[in-house]
Amino acid sequence: MQADAQQRRGKQALAEARRRQRPEQLTFAELAGAPAEPRLAAAAPPASAVLFESPGEIFLRVFRELKPRTSPPEVRVEFRRFANVNSFARLEDGRLSIRLSDVLEGAPAPILEALAHILLSKLYRTPAPETYNLRYRRYLNRKEISRSLHLVRQQRGRKFVSGPRGEVFDLEEIFEELNARHFHGLLARPALGWSRQPSRSTLGHFDPSHNAIILSRLLDGAAVPRLAVEYVMFHEMLHLRHPVEHRGARRSVHTPEFRAAEKAFPRLQEARQILKKLTR
Ligand SMILES: [Zn+2]
Repeated sequence: MQADAQQRRGKQALAEARRRQRPEQLTFAELAGAPAEPRLAAAAPPASAVLFESPGEIFLRVFRELKPRTSPPEVRVEFRRFANVNSFARLEDGRLSIRLSDVLEGAPAPILEALAHILLSKLYRTPAPETYNLRYRRYLNRKEISRSLHLVRQQRGRKFVSGPRGEVFDLEEIFEELNARHFHGLLARPALGWSRQPSRSTLGHFDPSHNAIILSRLLDGAAVPRLAVEYVMFHEMLHLRHPVEHRGARRSVHTPEFRAAEKAFPRLQEARQILKKLTR
């Protein structure tokens, strides 16, 4: 029952997001947004020409722009129900196949154009111009888009969450200790778990879509001081407390308020030193 309602809400949100994305409601200038893109705005073809290009035509045009001396491939663009906003470009036997998340179906032409630059640059291993990265990121950060992405992840994504109890440390116990010590016991406990792989690059993360804190299995070792595990957990708990802020294209994850709150952790430097050694 509940799942039904959730799914319905998800569908509504997606439909709503698409409705709002209709190209005719968006001017090129609005998408260009900041004065960061004057060159593009000036060089852009008339808006009507852009709006009537199909996704395939957009990718073909960008391909010609990037590879003027290569004979253009046959282009096929598909929208798929991915659990994420993943997009792929593949070139095989003179055929360029593009797979995009259905969340992007109905995205305005300038956004698909930016994505075409990003994907084709990736295909040819050259960096995409920053202006396209920025335009695309800014679009994903729009409130209605990030909301539908959140719902899509929640519904389609499968999340692996092991139990909180590791070989050495019990995350539930650590969470509740820190909760009492630093948050007056007021933080609602999310799902807690250990990552499948002992990652060195990501020691912990908070996943808002699944309301889960996951710590790297690397930390669940007898040689790891508890202080280090506590610090990583504390950091992720602060993410529960301080949601991500969107300021234009920038996702501000560690805001000044976040950083200030983090300083309240006792023996912060010591904990960081331990982690540094551990991940070396
Ligand atoms: Zn963080």
